Amino acid sequence: MEAYLGGVLDFSSVDYPHDSASVVFFEGCDFRCRYCHNYKLLEFTHKTDLEKTKETLKEYKKFVNAVVFTGGEPTLQPEALLELLKFAKSLKYRTKLDTNGNNPEMLRKALPLLDYVAVDLKTRFLDYRKITQKKVDTKKIEKSLRLITGKGHEARTTVVGGLNDTPEIMDEIGILLKKCGIKKYVLQQFYAGMGTLDKKLTDQNEPTREKLLQLARIMHKYGLEVYIRTRQAGEEKVAEETPTGLVGEEMPHQDAQTSEKGDL
Ligand code: SF4
Repeated sequence: MEAYLGGVLDFSSVDYPHDSASVVFFEGCDFRCRYCHNYKLLEFTHKTDLEKTKETLKEYKKFVNAVVFTGGEPTLQPEALLELLKFAKSLKYRTKLDTNGNNPEMLRKALPLLDYVAVDLKTRFLDYRKITQKKVDTKKIEKSLRLITGKGHEARTTVVGGLNDTPEIMDEIGILLKKCGIKKYVLQQFYAGMGTLDKKLTDQNEPTREKLLQLARIMHKYGLEVYIRTRQAGEEKVAEETPTGLVGEEMPHQDAQTSEKGDL
């Protein structure tokens, strides 16, 4: 079988929580997020024989425990994704999928083969198009969120100044996540250092760690375990603010820079 892939990264310490991983980059995406830094993967351009990819994964298993399927949007090539997931499981890899949540039916099919799923929640539903630059059926995103209520999955938002960084937007997101039964929510720091699809964002500063902490603390009232990811401190569990002080410690545990596509 052939598939449109952008490459396989041999080693990443930042793409699978608490573990080392190889990363398979799928080409093609149905969104055009303004802040996207993997924008070179958005079109279907490079066909690859999956047997070659499987050989690569077999080789990399000597060094890493997990494999992450990202993109682009992996669920747009369902047969290839399922085949690679089954193969990865046969090698006893731990598996993770990064998805924009726009294909809940495919996510449902893939779930039994996945140890970890990260579903993007770009912003409150009202503003979705401002980020994705595509008309999105947000009911599909909600369906995907409802599929990842088990422990070990996450919903996440990349915070971009001026696009989705207000307390009002966080409150609307919190209400939705609570309704869907999400446990883990991550606020990721936007970073323009690898370039962005919308060149107007390329010179924009990343939100500060303090800004992310401020937004994250709003989310505790929705019963969420809240984390932030920054380039400075990696992933940190955010302590809850109570009238008597902070409950829990901010706990850094890994670098947070997201991977760029690797070699085939
Ligand atoms: S950020 Fe993700 S969902 Fe958005 S365009 Fe890029 S690959 Fe697609």
